[in-house]
Amino acid sequence: MNNLDKLIQHFEKFPGVGARQAKRFAFHILTQAEDESKDLSELIANLKGSVVECASCHRFFPTAGVETMCSICNSQNRNHHKLLVVTQDSDIQAIERAGVYDGLYFVFGGTVPLLNSKENNKLRGSALKATVEERLKEGLVEVTLGFAVNPDGENTARFVESIIGEMLKERDIKTTYLGRGLSTGSELEYADPETIKNAFQNRSTHE
Ligand SMILES: [Zn+2]
Repeated sequence: MNNLDKLIQHFEKFPGVGARQAKRFAFHILTQAEDESKDLSELIANLKGSVVECASCHRFFPTAGVETMCSICNSQNRNHHKLLVVTQDSDIQAIERAGVYDGLYFVFGGTVPLLNSKENNKLRGSALKATVEERLKEGLVEVTLGFAVNPDGENTARFVESIIGEMLKERDIKTTYLGRGLSTGSELEYADPETIKNAFQNRSTHE
């Protein structure tokens, strides 16, 4: 396989990118000025060293190399008694932009599709359990599940409950759902600040 085909194959693995788009990306790079494509390849090569995964919430954050926890998890201005479980990093960005949540996060790493029994090894089930155990020691009072309002999101919520539900129930910790405040099918990542604000105000104790 030649380098062009290899590159196309890499792009095809990107989320939401199909075969035609992957080809377009690869040919775009071919037409770029040399220093631009060099810049891009250096950025990709160095990305993993300059952006790391937070040991507590598992979101990616830029670091000079010493911190293991992100600025949200380390902040004393955040409410450490609240934990919000979201699908992916971009959900946090949308919520932070809306400025309506002051607690901590946990990035679950994906969804559990209703009609797909294939195991997704990117999901952070055991890491979530560990983080909740840690937070319980620090007086956790509420866990909010912020998954999309669709069958896959609901299935993911059930899966998360199967991991931490018992622990929370034993200690009388409230579990809430952002679902009710979002319209059906909507995902946090694409929701506007007003919708996110409503979702928090109308979060319910039932899915
Ligand atoms: Zn963090």
